[in-house]
Amino acid sequence: MSDILEDNELEKKTKKKSDQSKLKARLRDLEFFTEVIPDGVVIINNQLIVEATNESAQSLLGLPEDSTGKSFEEFVKVARLNSYVRGDSQQEPLEFTSPVQKDSTLEARLFNVDKETKVVIVRDITTLNRLLTMRQSFVANVSHELRTPLTVVKGYLETMVDESAPQDLRLSLIKKLKAPVNRMESLVQDLLLLTQLESNPVPPEMDKIDMTELIQSAYNEVQGLLGEKGFLVINNNSDAKIKGISAELSSVCINLISNAIRYSPDGANIEVSWAKTEQGKARLAVQDRGLGIAKEHLDRITERFYRVDMKDSRARGGTGLGLAIVKHVLRRHNSELQVKSRVGEGSLFFCDFEIVQ
Ligand code: ADP
Repeated sequence: MSDILEDNELEKKTKKKSDQSKLKARLRDLEFFTEVIPDGVVIINNQLIVEATNESAQSLLGLPEDSTGKSFEEFVKVARLNSYVRGDSQQEPLEFTSPVQKDSTLEARLFNVDKETKVVIVRDITTLNRLLTMRQSFVANVSHELRTPLTVVKGYLETMVDESAPQDLRLSLIKKLKAPVNRMESLVQDLLLLTQLESNPVPPEMDKIDMTELIQSAYNEVQGLLGEKGFLVINNNSDAKIKGISAELSSVCINLISNAIRYSPDGANIEVSWAKTEQGKARLAVQDRGLGIAKEHLDRITERFYRVDMKDSRARGGTGLGLAIVKHVLRRHNSELQVKSRVGEGSLFFCDFEIVQ
């Protein structure tokens, strides 16, 4: 009888041991899991005493490694977060400024594990917020850019259908419709191009491009913009070929040359050149003697819809997307747009490419 009891006891002990080692193994897995995830995890009890943290939580909230057993509030001096973790898990996530990096925004979510234990998950939402703001301002910009020519078209149409308006005025408005309609068309084209550049991967095999041909056809396309006395000099000092996407490089040439013309007084000279650099690369350069750009704007002119002078640029027929397109295209060609400019003296836009044989 006592033998059987002993056997049972032994069985129970062995089972307990194996349960404990299973639990330990699970805890190790869990610990490993919480260490590899980028979100911060803090386990606290009802008195807000820290039971466990992972590395991300320590760096996001500035918690010391040995915070276990101590009060959460002792280390995290964010009043809103502390009152949030005191609440229950039904609440909405909480957004707050990082106590470690003032320009970062964090989000906390609270979960009740059981009556005693809570888990706080913290993540950095700075980039997400920035993207959301960018998207909102992009949509607002596009709507604004379209609304202006649309209002003009609407105004003209109202007069055109008004039978009491003089006949010659009504007829003359037909011609005037062209400008705002063209403007909307350019904007839609530029938007489509930008979207394509962002969504299409760079093809694995690029074409061999003769830039002198592309420069010449860009010149033919923008010639109409040049005032009567204007001068556009093309210096093809090199027959260097590069690898690239013809349509995209063509839009780089057209955008840079048309900007040079639009931001120069009538009759000013523009110089476009294609030449080898001392570093053995090929350089496309567009030099104008126009308005120039003040230093504080130079870093921002490739942002979508950024203009030095909003009204003036629109009046000159820009969409505000030209240099954003140029920047994207060049990035896809392992190149970068560089600018040297002085207000009242003019600007030099240039970019270098690897030469291929
Ligand atoms: P936009 O269609 O308004 O010209 P871009 O993206 O092509 O838009 O250029 C952004 C801004 O950079 C312009 O609005 C203008 O203020 C400035 N800019 C671009 N090119 C020149 C230039 N060659 N000379 C002076 N300012 C320029």
